[in-house]
Amino acid sequence: MLQELHSLPSGLLETDASGLEAALGQPTLIHLPGDREPPLFVSVLMHGNEPVGWDSIRALLAGYLERFGALHLPRSLSLFIGNVAAAAVGVRHLPDQPDYNRIWPGCESRSTPEHSMMQQVIDIMRQRGIFASLDFHNNTGCNPHYACVNRIDNRYLHLATLFSRTLVYFIRPHGVQSIAMGRLCPAVILECGKVGERHGMDHAREYIDACLHLSSLPEHPVAGGDIDLFHTVAQVKVPEEVSFGFPPSQADILFSPELERLNFRELPRGTALGRVDAHNGVGLDVRDEQGRDVSDRYFHVEDGELRLSLPVMPSMLTCDEAVIRQDCLCYIMERYNDHVPRRE
Ligand SMILES: [Zn+2]
Repeated sequence: MLQELHSLPSGLLETDASGLEAALGQPTLIHLPGDREPPLFVSVLMHGNEPVGWDSIRALLAGYLERFGALHLPRSLSLFIGNVAAAAVGVRHLPDQPDYNRIWPGCESRSTPEHSMMQQVIDIMRQRGIFASLDFHNNTGCNPHYACVNRIDNRYLHLATLFSRTLVYFIRPHGVQSIAMGRLCPAVILECGKVGERHGMDHAREYIDACLHLSSLPEHPVAGGDIDLFHTVAQVKVPEEVSFGFPPSQADILFSPELERLNFRELPRGTALGRVDAHNGVGLDVRDEQGRDVSDRYFHVEDGELRLSLPVMPSMLTCDEAVIRQDCLCYIMERYNDHVPRRE
């Protein structure tokens, strides 16, 4: 299922995400030599409808080719191009495929050929050694560019703050790329805003270039003033059997059309996210990091409105109904700066 290459197929950099399946045929790991070892690992298109990683790395490599006439990289690069079949049709994953960012070693789900492929990528990279791992995503909704880490470790925090001062720490869901890679090297997820935004692409390209030029990642603490760290404490889903929509449609839950503007804002208790049919209760499935149902801790129904029971900060809130069904409504976060190691 996995193809491994040691050079760039000709014409690949001119191919957009939707053409990669025709060009490569399958998920592909490409090793490119550079001046320093071990390689920087970059994964793109874990989600087929999030092209920012591919678009930024191909722009970066094309820039190197143009400047030097050959790919002369400051550090070796191992590029993993993930779900090309889903990218061909512009979806997160095909109906008969698992989510490529939930099946890395350490996940709880059943074994599929895709699970084995991710294990293979890990095994290959463990042998080669890895300087650091970057995994690129777009998201829906109005979110700032931010980086995610799964460990509070100075090297990981330095790698993340090189991208943004806004960081999110999480340890669930299991099976994501950065948790698996984070056992081998400093690893981050880069959330680069909505699909098609020029700024997201430029930011990602400059960030990869900066990482290729790093000689090492510092072990000393990040300056406290350089970081806004948040911890994901729960994931919010709408259960299969509950219908939802946005006004003026009819459904069990009618979310506010203003939802997306609430991302990364500290919301007071009592904030309403929409209207609900009271006999369904809050109608949401809210799980903490241990997988426990914490719906009643965060939400209640009052006057037919779905309201927050605690002050929280959401991320990834979206008005895209397909994303809400396939992934989730949002994540709930709390400020976590007190956990950042301090400078002496
Ligand atoms: Zn994604």
